[in-house]
Amino acid sequence: MPVPLAIHGGIPVRGTLLPYSRQSIDDADVRAVTEVLKSDWLTTGPKVNDFERAFAIFTGAQEAVAVSNGTAALHAAMHALDIAEGDDVIVPTMTFAATANAVVFRGGTPVFVDVDPETLLADPAKIKAAVTRKTKAVAVVDYAGQPCDYDAVRAVTGLPVVADACHALGGSYGKKNVGTLGDLNTFSFHAVKPLATGEGGMITTNDADCAARMRRFRNHGITGDHRERQEKGSWFYEMQELGYNYRLTDIQCALGISQLAKVAARTARRQEIAKKYDTAFAKMDTLAPLTTRPDVSHAYHLYVIRLNPDTVKVARDEIFHALRAENIGVNVHYIPVHLHPFYRKQFGTKAGDCPVAEKAYEEILSLPLFASMTDADAENVIEAVRKVCAFYRK
Ligand SMILES: *Cc1c(COP(=O)(O)O)cnc(C)c1O
Repeated sequence: MPVPLAIHGGIPVRGTLLPYSRQSIDDADVRAVTEVLKSDWLTTGPKVNDFERAFAIFTGAQEAVAVSNGTAALHAAMHALDIAEGDDVIVPTMTFAATANAVVFRGGTPVFVDVDPETLLADPAKIKAAVTRKTKAVAVVDYAGQPCDYDAVRAVTGLPVVADACHALGGSYGKKNVGTLGDLNTFSFHAVKPLATGEGGMITTNDADCAARMRRFRNHGITGDHRERQEKGSWFYEMQELGYNYRLTDIQCALGISQLAKVAARTARRQEIAKKYDTAFAKMDTLAPLTTRPDVSHAYHLYVIRLNPDTVKVARDEIFHALRAENIGVNVHYIPVHLHPFYRKQFGTKAGDCPVAEKAYEEILSLPLFASMTDADAENVIEAVRKVCAFYRK
């Protein structure tokens, strides 16, 4: 007799919901924020530069530019590349909508490409096939935290590469850290991401001109900032181009500096939990984890499994609800962007454009994975996945 599922009135595997991700905040983080709150600068003060320097050193990039969120980081990157009306930018469809939206903010057209079925990372052959005379840049996404195959991407195109590395801080590719793999690399510090400042973002690059342009862009297109003017005893400033208020506060930058010190240890902890999952799921025929390439260190922002429709008799949604009832906070990343109503209406994208991503979308689930999870939490996830998949096995 199979164990009765919680969704059918059985006892859930755990009593409280385990979220798919959550921030880790310690006393040092709290002290860092409190210090700034008592200082002269709540925003655009010394902590911005300190965070940028620390982030550049951590990733190995020459420049880091702090902005208000990951979407602003993508927008600033597209601005620095001068994406404009009439330009195409290649975007893998298996991503959060913001990767494509940033192209649209600039008046450009995102050209969606399909992904590799094993990793759900952009397929270099599909990128090659999509490049035309209108293509100005290629965006790639280090989906789930695994750096994509940058050598293969560079081999098929000499265009600038924007790496959406929002999942991948702490990861690496060969000998190179995430943050140095694209010409411009974008990060998010949203609460669920590997480094959390509530909201926040960063772009890394080795191009000093691009960095200067992005610093101006985040401050209305104005040269210099408030603190520089105060130090010079001057009121004068000029707006050189249209920008936005995409500044990150000193409060958030102080939290970011404090969080950054723990990224390496927390990445290692997520990798440890991912290994437990890999081992537990290796013997199951109802699902398979995504594949990790041998030449990468996977940062595991997400742990994604793929259900096997040949052995599971219900759709992903029923497995999702059954696991939620067991108090396992599973999630789905992502609806392929080209299927969103906005893109269908505005750009004429449709089902069938990216069949690999569309099929994967029907079968994927993100399991809880974050650094402060206990081994017992991980055991709960494994037990619940086994229980639910056993119940619904064909
Ligand atoms: C989180 C995320 C973003 C957007 O970041 P925000 O800080 O929420 O604006 C963009 N791309 C990917 C892949 C993300 O995961």
